Amino acid sequence: MLCSTPIGNLRDITLRALDELRAADIILSEDTRRTAVLLNHHGIRSTLLSYHEHNEAERLRDVRRLLVQGSHLVAVSDAGTPSVADPGYRLLHAALEAGAEVTALPGPSAFLPALVLSGLPMHAFAFYGFLPRTFAQRDAMVREALSRPMTGVWYESPRRLPGSLSRMCALGYGHRHAVVARELTKLHEEVIRGTVAELAARVSVDAPRGEIVLCIGPETGIGHPPESGMLIAVDEVMHLCAEGTALSRAVAEVAATLGMPKRALYVAALARRRSE
Ligand code: SAM
Repeated sequence: MLCSTPIGNLRDITLRALDELRAADIILSEDTRRTAVLLNHHGIRSTLLSYHEHNEAERLRDVRRLLVQGSHLVAVSDAGTPSVADPGYRLLHAALEAGAEVTALPGPSAFLPALVLSGLPMHAFAFYGFLPRTFAQRDAMVREALSRPMTGVWYESPRRLPGSLSRMCALGYGHRHAVVARELTKLHEEVIRGTVAELAARVSVDAPRGEIVLCIGPETGIGHPPESGMLIAVDEVMHLCAEGTALSRAVAEVAATLGMPKRALYVAALARRRSE
């Protein structure tokens, strides 16, 4: 059984999840210390067994054996829903192969409250997990995702967020509406709204801490330059800079000529300069 657990507030857990955690012979947990805090909070004494990517092969053997013996196993991840950017997938397959009856207990996951709070269009959305680590893969994913007529949702680390937003500006998405949702359901919950360029500017001076979901809205097509327009504008700024014009002056000139937001262009040009 895969069981969702809170992403912050320990009371965000269903009655059924508490029943199943209490009834479990063994709770497979990605982070036993964190799960122990949850169990203690709710007065549950079930046995915990660690399950994470470093002991996966060994644990999968244990799981098959325990399932054949008829044990009632409940798997939880670090937080939220197992398998959503977390281990759980291979565990599920091992259980299915062992012929076990499997179910998932619905509950918290960070991307949904972030999306709901964002105020961005959500008639359709796409969740991409974490942005890839290599620049080429990240750019390819961002381009593909942001060409679709729907809101894109990512998990992102606070350390990498400034670079990712700057890069999105450089790729021509600085004008898109975006939201950084951090520390959801926790004491310091915060939802920061703005364009990608505004958020890039803000996090470059005031880096957010904690756990983060990034949502980027689709192209509205109204009052915004086309994406290729930003790339062309940045090219023009770089051209002026190569001729000796200061960056801020080049940005002001190009923004005035093309009728683009100066701040977004500045952030995009700065990101291009840093990446070259
Ligand atoms: N399985 C989890 C789920 O269902 O959401 C996700 C696990 S993933 C390893 C952890 C990432 O989820 C964090 O780096 C962050 O991007 C996001 N996340 C988890 N809890 C969060 C919270 N309380 N507020 C904002 N983002 C959160």
